[in-house]
Amino acid sequence: MSDQDGKKPLGLGGGSRSGTVKQSFARGRTNNVVVETKRKRVQVPKPGAQSAAAVNAQGGRQTSTTDAEMDRRLRALQAAKAREAEDAERRAAEERAREEERSRRRAEIEAKEREERERAELARQRAEEDERRQREAVEAKSRPAEPTPAPAAAAEPRQRNLGPDARPGRTDAPRKREDDSGKPRGNDRRAGKLTVNQALAGGEGGRQRSLASMRRKQERQRRGGGGNVQQEKVARTVQLPDTIVVSELANRMTERVAAVVKALMQNGMMVTQNQVIDADTAELIIEEFGHRVQRVSEADVEQVIDQVEDTPENLQPRAPVITIMGHVDHGKTSLLDAIRKTKVVSGEAGGITQHIGAYQVKVGDTKLSFLDTPGHAAFTSMRARGAQVTDIVVLVVAADDAVMPQTVEAINHAKAAGVPMIVAINKMDRQGADANRVRAELLQHEVVVEEMSGDVQDVEVSAQTGKGLDSLLEAIALQAEILELKANPNRAAQGAVIEAQLDVGRGPVATVLVQNGTLRRGDIFVVGEQWGKVRALVNDQGERVNEAGPSVPVEVLGLNGTPAAGDVLNVVETEAQAREIAEYREHAAKDKRAAAGAATTLDQLMAKAKEDRGVSELPILVKADVQGSAEAIMQAMEKVGNDEVRVRVLHSGVGAITESDITLAEASKAPVIGFNVRANAPARAAANQKGVEIRYYSVIYDLVDDVKQAASGLLSAEIKEHFIGYAEIREVFRVTGVGNVAGCLVTEGVARRSAGVRLLRDNVVVHEGTLKTLKRFKDEVREVQSGQECGMAFENYDDVRQGDVIEIFEREEVERTLA
Ligand code: GDP
Repeated sequence: MSDQDGKKPLGLGGGSRSGTVKQSFARGRTNNVVVETKRKRVQVPKPGAQSAAAVNAQGGRQTSTTDAEMDRRLRALQAAKAREAEDAERRAAEERAREEERSRRRAEIEAKEREERERAELARQRAEEDERRQREAVEAKSRPAEPTPAPAAAAEPRQRNLGPDARPGRTDAPRKREDDSGKPRGNDRRAGKLTVNQALAGGEGGRQRSLASMRRKQERQRRGGGGNVQQEKVARTVQLPDTIVVSELANRMTERVAAVVKALMQNGMMVTQNQVIDADTAELIIEEFGHRVQRVSEADVEQVIDQVEDTPENLQPRAPVITIMGHVDHGKTSLLDAIRKTKVVSGEAGGITQHIGAYQVKVGDTKLSFLDTPGHAAFTSMRARGAQVTDIVVLVVAADDAVMPQTVEAINHAKAAGVPMIVAINKMDRQGADANRVRAELLQHEVVVEEMSGDVQDVEVSAQTGKGLDSLLEAIALQAEILELKANPNRAAQGAVIEAQLDVGRGPVATVLVQNGTLRRGDIFVVGEQWGKVRALVNDQGERVNEAGPSVPVEVLGLNGTPAAGDVLNVVETEAQAREIAEYREHAAKDKRAAAGAATTLDQLMAKAKEDRGVSELPILVKADVQGSAEAIMQAMEKVGNDEVRVRVLHSGVGAITESDITLAEASKAPVIGFNVRANAPARAAANQKGVEIRYYSVIYDLVDDVKQAASGLLSAEIKEHFIGYAEIREVFRVTGVGNVAGCLVTEGVARRSAGVRLLRDNVVVHEGTLKTLKRFKDEVREVQSGQECGMAFENYDDVRQGDVIEIFEREEVERTLA
């Protein structure tokens, strides 16, 4: 006891046995009370007395040695006392050690609880936390040398002060913390500020858990939120390729892999995290987790192409793009030349212009862009490639001639593309020019001009004299105004290749009509399967320019290869992107060519039509030797079909099958039918290359028959059933391994194993399925004739009963044909 602050508690004195009793109070406080017990025999310890008595009994010399004996006894007594004191001391020390250990643990628990409380407090005050943290940080800096009393440190004085006097010291530390729990001092540490002093003081050093929790705290703070941030659900947009590994899916959703696997299992998919699942399944899971799905595929290399839709406010009016079409020799070239000579944008250099495949003219304030590539091939090949460049078609018809096959072809092309038309009745200077005859003939082809109270503008012109040219241009300008053509010049350029060739000296050169955005020198682009960087831009005047806006035709230098007419040019950001897209397209085109063989054969159309029940139109292109047969075929075709399917003649004409027929057919995925005509060499080559089927006929009946057949492919097949027999169940046997076997008598027709069966009970069908076995005596047989007995068992059905009737039938798929 003497070791307790030098204060000796009141006691019974040397002859007492002492011990301590520990009292426990709230908040883990304790008090040790010393308990002393008065011994009964104080003066003479028993062992000493006993030994003295024994000595007395042994000899009679004791009386003379009483003093010495007394001395010895006294010494023994003292030694015993000392031993006793030692014992008590040791016990006290042990008790102290235990108590120290207990209080240390208690302090730890306390600290933990406190931390818990503080964390809850923190969560509540999360909104203010940032600010507070800053304040704390500042505070911490302002008193860096002040060691923060921490739980472990606080426990120490408590351990030392075991007596009642220790109470204030013990309660101090926790109280302090509670007092300012709004911003606990211990929080300095949690705010991530571990000062050198703190570290050296070692108050926290031994506590790994504290360091770990500090790191967690720092981590949370780095993520910029309070302690509850993880619980908040973040809906992410998950990029989903065609297939995905489960773990990667979890990764992209930032969900736990186990949770994803569990979700898959709940959806009936037993997969591991390394297994690949398809996009549809993955989509289900993504939605289940509350995220958004964004499907991506290999073709997404193209995604880098700026596909942002323009908003109305970004759009600015642009010049219309005009293509001149018509029958050969009706004056397309002459008209284009006439317009160019008189109206070229800056006609200074005596109208001498460089032919780049397109040019611009100015009518008043409006500019018109003409594609200087007369003929239908350019038009359709562009359309086939998905580059709809033309806004307006000018249909040239010679007034001294009539509507000719190519005129009709041009009409069909324009209609197929949905491009408005303006009719230019040319050669009005010629004798015998009859504009009204042309108008009347056009009427037969469903082109109703304004003169005939239709909505197609018509203008009488002469390319030679220049008469009516202004009116024609005005008509075009008017049409353009109606169309309200707009584009956004302030974005990455997109354009279409009008022409391209390999120029000796200049390398690959392409005339590009910019459709949207502005193409500038130095732009990196991809065009079809080629890519490049704009080295130079040359306009229709042969001048070098720095940029070209919407509807401006321009020659582009700096390609790495020659693109094809109709290829689309897109400006991208980096060369790597451009190269990647070009390579991807080249690869894809190769695959397509390999698969093409015959992309649009009648057979494939039939197959496709069967697959795709939505298809109800069979497009075809007809070329015949004479107008009469062409008309007869047209009429016959109109009759083919019913409510579900019909044949659509995209174009019918007289004469050989030409390249432009093939391009039109390709654009509409139609086969070309030649009646007593053949395809010319370029057309054959084009058909081979593009996989367009050409079929030749010389008998209309055969032609109609084949087309009917193809159109029938659009009809769904009919299933017909034939009853081939009946059997009656006489008895039912139970056969191990087979189940119930019906012992039957074939009452009508035959029973066939491969056939379908229905089980009738009181003329009600109770089951429909197939046979598992058909037995005659012990043998498995294919067929059992009427009047014979046999054993039958159903596949996946056991409930057969005596008296049931088995109906045996066969199914036949009947192709429906058009009458
Ligand atoms: P394309 O085949 O449609 O391009 O027709 P061209 O422009 O080559 O013209 C064919 C022929 O018709 C040429 O000999 C022209 O001189 C002639 N021609 C074109 N337009 C006119 C015209 O308005 N009046 C006259 N008299 N002849 C014309």
